[in-house]
Amino acid sequence: MRLLAVAFLLLLLPRPGLAGCLIALDIGHHREAPGEVSARGVPELVFNAELARRVGWELDRRGIAWTLINAQGDVTELAERPRRAAQAGASLFLSLHHDSVQDAYKTEWVWQGVPRAHSEVFSGFGLFVSGRNPQMEESETVARAIGDGLIAAGLGPSLHHALAVEGENRPLLDAGRGIYRFDDLAVLRQAAMPAVLVEAGIIVNRDDEPVIASEGYRAAFARAIATAAHAHCQRLN
Ligand SMILES: [Zn+2]
Repeated sequence: MRLLAVAFLLLLLPRPGLAGCLIALDIGHHREAPGEVSARGVPELVFNAELARRVGWELDRRGIAWTLINAQGDVTELAERPRRAAQAGASLFLSLHHDSVQDAYKTEWVWQGVPRAHSEVFSGFGLFVSGRNPQMEESETVARAIGDGLIAAGLGPSLHHALAVEGENRPLLDAGRGIYRFDDLAVLRQAAMPAVLVEAGIIVNRDDEPVIASEGYRAAFARAIATAAHAHCQRLN
């Protein structure tokens, strides 16, 4: 048991890597409020945690230091996330999420005997940066690099957050790469270091859900994020 505990603690420590560079991977949401619900009833928190771990493996593989924020799914305060990243000495904060759409686009279906909401109107990823983050320029540079990597992997952005409907109206900074400006996103605004929020895919889309949960999809995100992180680390040196 003691060995297990030590191994677990070691997992939580930042890995050695490129000097001065540490990537904070934030698992979006927490157990009491696990975010969106997929077309088949899986909470977003589960997708976010799986993706964070997959991205972490890729960062390890490339020798880039990283630390996991909200590893246990118990961080309820949004401000606590960038605060923990700062305490760990993170140079970049990436909050990992999965997306949904406004209720008006959803319809009901029954999956394994349970009525669920789904929508196939929109498909794709989204990247968010905040103009109130003190390092907006680097945040945007990282977001562009992530977008480039995803597009090179054959993925495309969803622009539904820019629609002129209630709850959306997010200005697009870069439609080609699916980069939105969302100044008041708390985790980005309160981060002292550059920060990007990644919406990896629309889990309420029942066609996309199994794809988003696949190793190939997660690997594409891991590679795109690791490449963007590596470029960020090089700019620090
Ligand atoms: Zn979310």
